[in-house]
Amino acid sequence: MKPQKYVYSFQEGDGSNHHLFGGKGAGLCEMTKIGLPVPPGFVITTEACLHYYDSKQRISETLKRQVNEGIKTLEVATGRKFGGSKHPLLISVRSGAAVSMPGMMDTILNLGLSSKTIEALIAETKNERFAWDAYRRFLMLFGKIALKVPGELFDHLLEEVKSEAGVSQDVALSVPSLKTLCDRMVETIEAHTHQSFDEDPWNQLFLAISAVFDSWMGKRAVDYRKQFNITRDMANGTAVNIVTMVFGNMGETSATGVAFTRDPATGEDRLFGEYLTNAQGEDVVAGIRTPKPIDALAVEMPKTYQELQKVRHTLERHYKEVQDFEFTIERGKLYILQTRNGKLNARASVKSSIDMQKEGLITKKEALLRVTPEHLTQLMHPHIDPKHRPDPLASGIPASPGAASGKIVLDPDLAEELKKDSDEALILVREETKPEDIHGFFASEGILTLRGGKTSHAAVVARGMGKPCVVGCEALKIDLDTRKIAFDQRQFREGDWLTIDGSTGEVYAGKVPTIEPQIDEDLNNLLTWADEIRTLGIRANVDTPEAAQKALTLGAEGIGLCRTERMFNAPDRLSIVQEMILADTNEKRHEAIQRLLPFQRKDFKEILKTMEGKPVTVRLLDPPLHEFLPDPESLILEVENLKDFASTLRGLEELPGIIRMLDPSLHEYLPPIEGVLKELEEIKKRREDEAYLEKKEELLKKVRGLSEVNPMLGHRGIRLGITYPEIYEMQIQALLEASAELLEEGCDVRPEIMVPQVCTAQELKWVHRMVEKIHKEVEGRFGISVPLHFGTMIEVVRACMRAGRLAEVADFFSFGTNDLTQATFSFSREDAENKFLPLYNERKILQDNPFEVLDQKGVGRLMMITIEWGRRTKPDLTIGICGEHGGHPASIEFCHNIGLTYVSCSVNRLPIARLAAAHAKIREVRGKLPEGLDSDYPFVIYF
Ligand code: PEP
Ligand code: MG
Repeated sequence: MKPQKYVYSFQEGDGSNHHLFGGKGAGLCEMTKIGLPVPPGFVITTEACLHYYDSKQRISETLKRQVNEGIKTLEVATGRKFGGSKHPLLISVRSGAAVSMPGMMDTILNLGLSSKTIEALIAETKNERFAWDAYRRFLMLFGKIALKVPGELFDHLLEEVKSEAGVSQDVALSVPSLKTLCDRMVETIEAHTHQSFDEDPWNQLFLAISAVFDSWMGKRAVDYRKQFNITRDMANGTAVNIVTMVFGNMGETSATGVAFTRDPATGEDRLFGEYLTNAQGEDVVAGIRTPKPIDALAVEMPKTYQELQKVRHTLERHYKEVQDFEFTIERGKLYILQTRNGKLNARASVKSSIDMQKEGLITKKEALLRVTPEHLTQLMHPHIDPKHRPDPLASGIPASPGAASGKIVLDPDLAEELKKDSDEALILVREETKPEDIHGFFASEGILTLRGGKTSHAAVVARGMGKPCVVGCEALKIDLDTRKIAFDQRQFREGDWLTIDGSTGEVYAGKVPTIEPQIDEDLNNLLTWADEIRTLGIRANVDTPEAAQKALTLGAEGIGLCRTERMFNAPDRLSIVQEMILADTNEKRHEAIQRLLPFQRKDFKEILKTMEGKPVTVRLLDPPLHEFLPDPESLILEVENLKDFASTLRGLEELPGIIRMLDPSLHEYLPPIEGVLKELEEIKKRREDEAYLEKKEELLKKVRGLSEVNPMLGHRGIRLGITYPEIYEMQIQALLEASAELLEEGCDVRPEIMVPQVCTAQELKWVHRMVEKIHKEVEGRFGISVPLHFGTMIEVVRACMRAGRLAEVADFFSFGTNDLTQATFSFSREDAENKFLPLYNERKILQDNPFEVLDQKGVGRLMMITIEWGRRTKPDLTIGICGEHGGHPASIEFCHNIGLTYVSCSVNRLPIARLAAAHAKIREVRGKLPEGLDSDYPFVIYF
């Protein structure tokens, strides 16, 4: 049997197979094929990595043989010899999985360099310093990664030798210093490994390959995959790329850099990037030296700059997507070492997608799919209010947009620790960040660093996470001993507040006010395309005319949920609502309700008017009544205090006598005290305190009477409507009168009445009769016909089971998936999120929080049954969703697939919902089960 093929040269590899070759490997193969200057090399596949893990982390003989052949081919292609004493072949050993995980896995450079081959390199390059510098870099990386010597030991040696030589920059180290450094590194390696240092390049190569494979399961990589939900289907194992070394540190005609084919912060169509002359790749990425903007290369090396421009166009024409690529210039010759789809911030993603469509590179659908709902979430991030923008403390390089405020925290471990105990916002402040700091990023709202450029690790990771980040803030000083930082004269302690603006690079003291972002022309264009494509309706959950106005500007096609209780809670209504609840006779209750009517009518009128021509779904009162009353604890306290009033008064009566006795000089204070005492006496005489006490005791009794053990499952929604019909009658009347008045004024209104918490068809019929009666009465009184839709929320499992009967009465259903999730799981929605859900997620008992991400397998199935049965009774039944899930992208896709008419979500999620609905339409595959559902599901799926 032919042994499995694990090694592919860059000419052989399939550039579209990211799973097998990893992103980096596939890119190198593809770039080789389209004629870009890639140094010769080969890829060891991810299958070899999986095989390595299956074989107890040992490299098989088959792989060894194929690697040997690969190296031989490289020797032929380059005219060099691996381990040779003339023209030695030096290679890099680079990780690369199917999904980009920047900085999470390991890479070793300059392998093949040893105390034996270095002389040949010196002879060839006539640059002794360069050769020793390359060797010390190799020892550092190989020692740390392949031989697991703690990296700090090497950092420490480097600092030690620099200080002995009296220099502060690595580049200033002389040849003797570098030699000393290499000797000490070898000693350190030997001391740590208890072995003499093995200089055989083949042994080193296989150790390096193993180390890269090992880094796939390293803590950093595992944490990163967990955080970003990178599943095995997305990336399984890392490939290893063996690439002939090219050097950006061979003097002033050499350089290394990272570039984007368009500006990753704005989307502008121009070459964007940074480079360092006389440096090696990791110097740019690690942010150790602050690089120069790419435009400077046009002056420094104009010919190469033009070549880079050509590369930019070739890459974009080929990939039709913004590319993020690495290059090295070795003594004037340009090499491309990597390309991948650029991680763009939201604005750039929108602009470049729109521009590329206009340039004819991509279609509208492709442009839409380029922009993720997460991007829009980023765009909806707040930025600093220009009216309150204070003078900045300092500024750095704006690396990831958006503004964030938080308490200063100086190390990632502490950030993680603090986040466990509180929800406090944090800003991680570091000299530079390294891949192992990733947990600190997760815990912080924003990141500020002293060093680094836009492509440094901190910048790339923060952009990926959509967290504001400022790098290269050189005015920043950090003192880890005293846990203080300073910007010139201003000092701050760890724990003080700081604000950063990742769009401008500015840093401010304290917590600076921020404002909501605006939708610009590009985004507006994109959302208009989304609207052209999507078939799912988009409505908003809105309770006020102001919010309705905002919803309209953000593209809402109606209101899917107007929660009327929020109107009851307004200060001018609450006291009337309380009177209504506390009324001990029907007359009193009726009287209070009649006072509420005009308020309610005015609210509805304003909202209906704002939404002219669009449906407005008004939900009748839902929450239990006790929510409108004071809580029993504070009432008990008040009652206790009132009861203590008499004894307090007695104590006060004696106060003047005591003051006279203890300190007669205080006599001037006596008259006001005596005045107050007299007033209090009067109150007592008039028995006002007792009357007040009685009132409070009565209220307490009522509150206690209304209190329930499980209020969310208790006297709320339709149950309340049936026991206190006057409330629903008033709301129905208010809505219909508001509609009739507007119709008289010539305004096109589309009111809808929705009943919450329904579980039987009889309940719904009961309210329906009430609605019909009032509807007729109002139409008669106004002499006008008022269009009205009547529907029910679906929030109760029994309602799902009785959907067929409910549809006999309802014109529409709206899934209240907040309650339906609670009811399906029997998880209290008030408590689950603070109690056990995080642990359930951590232990993977539940993949997501079901109150955030629709549980398609459970709640989703109930929805499908409901749709099926509801539409059997009424084929044109309108069905929407108004729970929180209506604004969640994956849930929206599911809603589209199961045939919902619309989703209704909170106002600021409207753009996300419009885009997600378009994505769902583009991705829809007719006749296929929605992703994530078990295939045993027997019901029909609507499209
Ligand atoms: C729901 O239950 O999904 C819903 C929208 O209603 P509320 O959140 O007000 O209970
Ligand atoms: Mg509900």
